[in-house]
Amino acid sequence: MGFLRGLVQRMYLGLRKMFALGRSGYLCDTCKWDYGDACNRPERPNAKTCPDYKRR
Ligand code: SF4
Repeated sequence: MGFLRGLVQRMYLGLRKMFALGRSGYLCDTCKWDYGDACNRPERPNAKTCPDYKRR
């Protein structure tokens, strides 16, 4: 059972990493453009989807 739980946990973490969602669930937290005036999108800093997203 412990093995299965570990496997599920690794898959979950991998998927979160893949979709780049931070702990908050907002893309901006891990986005390369989330500093100063680099991004003027209205959805910043709480974007859940974003065509300009680029991982830091
Ligand atoms: S480009 Fe999108 S994800 Fe990145 S900081 Fe701006 S709004 Fe957030």
